[in-house]
Amino acid sequence: VEVEVEAEKVVAELRERCATPASLLRDVAAAMAGEMGAGLEKEGGSRVKMLLSYVDKLPTGREEGLFYGLDLGGTNFRVLKVHLGGSKKHVVNSESREVSIPPHLMSGTSSELFGFIAGELGKFVAEEEEGTDMPNGKKKELGFTFSFPVRQRSVASGTLVKWTKAFSIDDAVGEDVVAELQTAMVKQGLDMHVAALINDAVGTLAGARYYDEDVVAGVIFGTGTNAAYVEKANAIPKWEGELPNSGDMVINMEWGNFYSSHLPIYEKLTSGMYLGEIVRRVLLKLSLQSGIFGSIDNSKLKTRFHLRTPHISAMHHDETPDLKIVAEKLHQILEITHTSLEIRKMVVEICDIVARRAARLAAAGVAGILMKLGRNGGINNQRSVIAIDGGLFEHYTKFRECLESTLGELLGEEASKSVAVKHANDGSGIGAALIAASQSR
Ligand code: ADP
Ligand code: MG
Repeated sequence: VEVEVEAEKVVAELRERCATPASLLRDVAAAMAGEMGAGLEKEGGSRVKMLLSYVDKLPTGREEGLFYGLDLGGTNFRVLKVHLGGSKKHVVNSESREVSIPPHLMSGTSSELFGFIAGELGKFVAEEEEGTDMPNGKKKELGFTFSFPVRQRSVASGTLVKWTKAFSIDDAVGEDVVAELQTAMVKQGLDMHVAALINDAVGTLAGARYYDEDVVAGVIFGTGTNAAYVEKANAIPKWEGELPNSGDMVINMEWGNFYSSHLPIYEKLTSGMYLGEIVRRVLLKLSLQSGIFGSIDNSKLKTRFHLRTPHISAMHHDETPDLKIVAEKLHQILEITHTSLEIRKMVVEICDIVARRAARLAAAGVAGILMKLGRNGGINNQRSVIAIDGGLFEHYTKFRECLESTLGELLGEEASKSVAVKHANDGSGIGAALIAASQSR
């Protein structure tokens, strides 16, 4: 009994400290909107960087022709081709191929990596090309989704600030990744033109906008989190260049670093990389403080990032009467055996507390964008669609449902009628090709 009381105390404390009442979320949304403004005001004005993407024309759905996309962001890269048939036919055909990057290339030289990518792209283009000739003299347009931090000065160039994830290729840092790719393509005799360099959030926005002109933002909840949205070019004081004809500019927010007095770094609370890890830490505390798992070997429980977000998702969605899946995961992953139903229920509650906080803060971020755009109002509001992608949003059903319902709670009944959240599948792939199409118009 002593043990259970002690365990219940740990959970109660977690519940209390992870609470996200609507009043807090409203403060977070307002702070996000405020940081957005500050980041647009001047370079370095906010931890939310609000980078210009230089994408000033989003796809309209009327584009025609063949366009290519290249998506590099993790352990795989994807090459893809879309045949756009204009406003009636839209995507007539699309083909893609995923290629895994040999690990030794992730820490080799820049020319080796880009040589490999250009080689694979060349093969794909050659195979796909048979029978589909480009009009004479017209270069193939390629959009490049590169989900690493880059500093851009134009839509089709950007210097690599640093590698993240599994990559570390020193001689590429500080170089223009588009120039590197272009050089590698020339070496392969591949006659393509890189029309745009974007990231996955911008791609998600573009991919969804192609089908629906009311899409105002693209948001990623995957391993990390980020958002991109369409801003009025004349509302960006820090921009010194000439304003584009369209009057619009897509802003790559880099909102993962958002931080306010109400909460620590946003990305750590809301993205797939961390949710499993948070739960692991709570379970370790539970084990050490209450001894509720018995005298187990804590070594797995002490291993950082050993419990992954898909594991907590599987436990959280366990609908078997005796929570068999929870028992299984605890056993297989953490070597916690002989759990009672009460303990399993406690573990599910911990997952629920952590995922619910994440989803509610995610909704607050989205509400912040709507607030900045003045689209969080009530009656006669324009329709606004938020396109969301990423493995966490796609696969963690309770996260997604909670995000959507919380957004409704924050906007209120009236404003909710004009706001929709849409799952935008595969923006990072097709979005690049669509931006290549819209930019080369
Ligand atoms: P990335 O953000 O690296 O481009 P994805 O958008 O595919 O990748 O998201 C992958 C992330 O999604 C994983 O790191 C994981 O946290 C989360 N994820 C994947 N599958 C699931 C799942 N079944 N349940 C919950 N989260 C998942
Ligand atoms: Mg991705």
